[in-house]
Amino acid sequence: MTETIDPKIDGASEPIAFQTEVKQLLNILIHSLYTEREIFLRELVSNASDALTQMRFVQQTERDVLDPEAELEIRLEVDEDEKTITISDTGVGMTREEMRTNLGTIAQSGARAFLQAVEDEDANASDVIGQFGVGFYSVFMAAEWVKVISRSYRPDTEAASWYATGSDTFQLGEADKEERGTTIIVKLNEDAEEFAREYRLRQIIKRHSDYVAYPIYIGDDEEQANRQKAIWRQRAQEVEAEEYVDFYKQLTLDFQDPLAHIHFVADAPLKIFALMYFPAKVDRGMFMLREEDGLKLYTRKILIEEYTKNLLPPYYRFVQGVVDAEDLPLNVSRENVQANALMEKLKKILTNQVTRKLEMMAKKDPEDYITFWEEFGQFIKEGVASDDADREKLYPLLRFHSTTHPAKWFSLVDYIERMGTGQEKIYYILGDDSRSVSRSPHLDYFRANGYEVLTLTDPVDSFMLMGLREYQDFEIQNVAAGDLELPVPKEAGEEGDAEPEAETLSEGEVDALVERFKTALGERVSDVRITERLTSSVARMVDPDGAMGQEMQRVYRMMDRDFQVPAKVLELNPQHPILSKLGALPKDDALAQTIIEQIYESALLIEGVHPDPAGMIPRIQELMEAALE
Ligand code: ADP
Repeated sequence: MTETIDPKIDGASEPIAFQTEVKQLLNILIHSLYTEREIFLRELVSNASDALTQMRFVQQTERDVLDPEAELEIRLEVDEDEKTITISDTGVGMTREEMRTNLGTIAQSGARAFLQAVEDEDANASDVIGQFGVGFYSVFMAAEWVKVISRSYRPDTEAASWYATGSDTFQLGEADKEERGTTIIVKLNEDAEEFAREYRLRQIIKRHSDYVAYPIYIGDDEEQANRQKAIWRQRAQEVEAEEYVDFYKQLTLDFQDPLAHIHFVADAPLKIFALMYFPAKVDRGMFMLREEDGLKLYTRKILIEEYTKNLLPPYYRFVQGVVDAEDLPLNVSRENVQANALMEKLKKILTNQVTRKLEMMAKKDPEDYITFWEEFGQFIKEGVASDDADREKLYPLLRFHSTTHPAKWFSLVDYIERMGTGQEKIYYILGDDSRSVSRSPHLDYFRANGYEVLTLTDPVDSFMLMGLREYQDFEIQNVAAGDLELPVPKEAGEEGDAEPEAETLSEGEVDALVERFKTALGERVSDVRITERLTSSVARMVDPDGAMGQEMQRVYRMMDRDFQVPAKVLELNPQHPILSKLGALPKDDALAQTIIEQIYESALLIEGVHPDPAGMIPRIQELMEAALE
């Protein structure tokens, strides 16, 4: 077995240039100081596994294949003297032309993303290699030369060989190979000789390729080096917590442990094995392996689709994992898997599983759930906005802050419990951020009278509200609505909110004051009127009756930058000292005009719709000068 391996290949062609991108990639890989070079083995094993999966698929659909009885397996051998590693598989193999393309250019693999990242981010290649599936070419981090001998499963083709040293070219040649599959011989660099040891290979396989779905044998050992078992097909009691985490990490290459997992095995109505995970973070690093959304779909351990989109609704796209459904017909092709009626059923079942798991987490591990909410709450809100059929199931998963509980996350049920008798609606206020919301004049009455108001400051909240109008028969009510019927006072509110002492204006004076505002503001407001609702605030903006609601306006504004917020109604608090004093000023008083403008613009600002806040500064200076006179 230890015959010297001749790097040259039989009938070698003239050198053939690698595609430019491959040259770049090779250049980076050869010169990188990446310490975990061992991942090259993971990449080669993963390619072998892909080739075996393809072979399994071919065998379902084609009769005439080479070596139909060959076991689907991967073999690794080491020659300690020659410093070579040999990786063989019984997969689909490659023809000479396939080798020219597949091993001379960059396909859709992680390699392209890697090159892009190194370019864009100016990142140090050595820091990021491990986070990509850099593919076949990663072998050149450790290889002096590489020889590939392959024979396609198609009976009428010939074996061929490929040879490269990591320079700008490769060669193609002939080969003597009777059996189907691919053999890759790696001559290790002097500084990579540590890999020419069976025990090292065993370690590496355990670490990176333990769940590869085919047996991996090393040397003459008849025992498999990998666990292979599809852990999703085991019973949950048989799987250790650590194994779940390991599997997740091998699947996603995420550095962090997942937040939770769902291991679901069912016999009826469908035979399903599913293992789904909630990652810890939305952004699993810009170099995450599974960059596309979707679950990995198998049927009877055969991979049907890598990223299966419609096994879960789009708002659950953060879920990672594997689904194995027995009842999908084996020959369902990747194209028509989407159309299969079973897929609908499967989707229902899996979606319920995810929702149930989240509910359980919220109940049993509230702290974990809050961690989840802070990271993934936006997806649940998106679901409430978009899932017409099932949005109600998501309501219990929502978490909020409020005027009385600004730092705590709580559910609608918690809110309702605190409401007490007499309160008939769930109140909320919309705004851009919690600080400006807390100053909103819309809250005056609610604060003064002991009502808790949900504070919604996330941009997706407006969308969510379109799908959340009611909960447990309680209407969900915006406190900014102009036509809102006020609830009865509950209890004395915060100190300082007491009605200001001021000489009150007569009815006639109030009317005159309102007229003055109308004349001054003209078209900019749709109306001016007085209100009983304000206590500490001078004025507020509300939408005219029958106008588009505030949340719709926000939605429009987000989707269309040029959207014009319709003119609003300005409501005045005639009890406020500023207004009672203003009412007393002569009609043509210049300062009065300035104050009216400022009241109007302040109301716009607090409403979050002021087009040019800094534009108020000259007027504020004018007012300061007047005050100092
Ligand atoms: P990726 O696997 O991401 O497509 P690679 O650079 O790792 O990219 O491999 C390039 C291509 O070479 C593969 O897509 C496959 O077509 C082919 N290939 C690599 N290894 C094997 C193998 N062991 N058997 C058959 N084909 C292979």
